[in-house]
Amino acid sequence: MQKQTALVIGAGIGGIATAARLAKNGYEVTVLEKEATPGGRCNQIVRDGHRFDIGPTLFLMPEIWEETFASLGEKMSDHLELTRIDPTYKVHFEDGLQLQLTSDIGKMQTQLEKVEKTAFTGFLSYIAEGGKHYKVSLEKFVGRNFYNIFEYFSLGNLPLLFQLKALQKHYANTSRFFKDERLKAAFTFQNMYLGLSPYDAPATYSLLQYTELAEGVWYPKGGLYAPILALVKIAEKLGVRFIYNAPVKKLNVEGARIKGVKLEDGREFSADIFVGNADLPYIYKELLPPSSEAKKMDDKLYTCSTIMFYWGVDKEYSQVALHNVFLAGDYKASFDQIFKDHTLPEVPSFYVHAPTRVDQNAAPQEEETLIVLVPVGHLDARSRQDWDALVNRARETVFARLAKELGADDLREHIKFEIMYQPETWKERFNLEKGAAFGLSHNFWQVGYLRPQNRHKEYKNLYFAGASTHPGTGLPIVLLSARLTTDRILKEAGTIPVQNLNYAISQV
Ligand SMILES: Cc1cc2nc3c(=O)[nH]c(=O)nc-3n(C[C@H](O)[C@H](O)[C@H](O)COP(=O)(O)OP(=O)(O)OC[C@H]3O[C@@H](n4cnc5c(N)ncnc54)[C@H](O)[C@@H]3O)c2cc1C
Repeated sequence: MQKQTALVIGAGIGGIATAARLAKNGYEVTVLEKEATPGGRCNQIVRDGHRFDIGPTLFLMPEIWEETFASLGEKMSDHLELTRIDPTYKVHFEDGLQLQLTSDIGKMQTQLEKVEKTAFTGFLSYIAEGGKHYKVSLEKFVGRNFYNIFEYFSLGNLPLLFQLKALQKHYANTSRFFKDERLKAAFTFQNMYLGLSPYDAPATYSLLQYTELAEGVWYPKGGLYAPILALVKIAEKLGVRFIYNAPVKKLNVEGARIKGVKLEDGREFSADIFVGNADLPYIYKELLPPSSEAKKMDDKLYTCSTIMFYWGVDKEYSQVALHNVFLAGDYKASFDQIFKDHTLPEVPSFYVHAPTRVDQNAAPQEEETLIVLVPVGHLDARSRQDWDALVNRARETVFARLAKELGADDLREHIKFEIMYQPETWKERFNLEKGAAFGLSHNFWQVGYLRPQNRHKEYKNLYFAGASTHPGTGLPIVLLSARLTTDRILKEAGTIPVQNLNYAISQV
């Protein structure tokens, strides 16, 4: 029997994992990627002996990764060398307080009780709640497909939405556990991984703090690009064909089906099914024919964007830990300025990653590779966004705080080169709608069945896998997306679409 064919648009982690799963299930799969290499937001830059992970630097939820490798007939430990990172982060507050988040309970107790007498009890309850949220979310909402709204808002699920505090705000909910504003900040800033403000994020997301401390933050040898290379190798072994420098220009439609794709260079490809891994709103708006669904994409909420500095430095700064978070004094104002005004906060928070603390190969000997992430608002035509000025201000803020708080006062002179990304770079390089670095937002109205689903409503052979479809952003969550999309494709394979069935009946 002839194999079913699948075309995947995009070789981000979602595209690679879906392609590999489909190939494992007997499909003949081709992946079309606009860039010269795979990985998407999880790509890397190598220059003059310095290696930078472009986006992700935290390897989280290892059990989800394990499942992906296992589903492809492989063992993760044969492909990745993981080191657990503990303390996970060093958190710096503007008033000089420093906290090292760690799964060492004793050390956590000492640090927290110095800030607030009852904080350690609060912390234990907070993590316990996060653990409950994690398990219930994964089992009942994140790790499954919803084929209709009744499955989502079923009688069984409604009480769970309350149990998961889906309608309560995360920051407000931390007041039940901590009084000190700095502690509330230390246990909510992780919402930024989902590109969300803790003042808007559902309290459900305390699950993030749980996974970091209970399941661990890990570092794969070779950086976050190592898992991408491993998955591509496995996919190729399963027969997947990757075609790079192949930007798709348009999806050709016939009735309720996609017939093929046309590339920028005019080449055309056809297949039985199609999987869009490029950002979902971009596919609706730019690759498909105009539709009311595409227009609705403009009204959706998007995550924030980031300014990134990738610095090759000719001196070591051993006082910079592997993961460092510098929080702004006025925490709330900084989120309002990102999410409401769509700009760089007056006093920005930021994150610094120094991979050589665990991986000597990330920089030449006695040198440093530094990655700085400064959250900013996404592109917004209505806001005045002078990116040159905002980028300069972000850079100066980073220099000033690293000098004041870590004594790195000569850093500026030791930077050999800088590569900089800002929202327009995210949009141009990866076609991320509004330059939103994490895709569509994850508020109550944009998760579960309410998030754009992993199959197009009209074109029944067009599926989606990636950060802007169900379940959402973050590498392990996108791996789940690849599993759920593949499950759906396999479930629906062989079924005759209703309109064809009607046609067949009318012919009898
Ligand atoms: C700065 C930053 C930090 C992050 N940190 C973390 C972290 O520490 N841990 C974590 O787990 N997650 C993190 N994330 C989130 C994570 O990177 C994403 O959720 C994930 O990589 C998204 O994968 P994807 O496959 O959905 O999309 P993408 O990686 O965007 O892949 C889509 C692919 O489609 C391609 N494409 C687009 N248009 C076309 C076209 N027309 N034709 C062909 N190909 C096309 C793109 O080039 C790209 O390769 C971070 C993200 C960012 C931006």
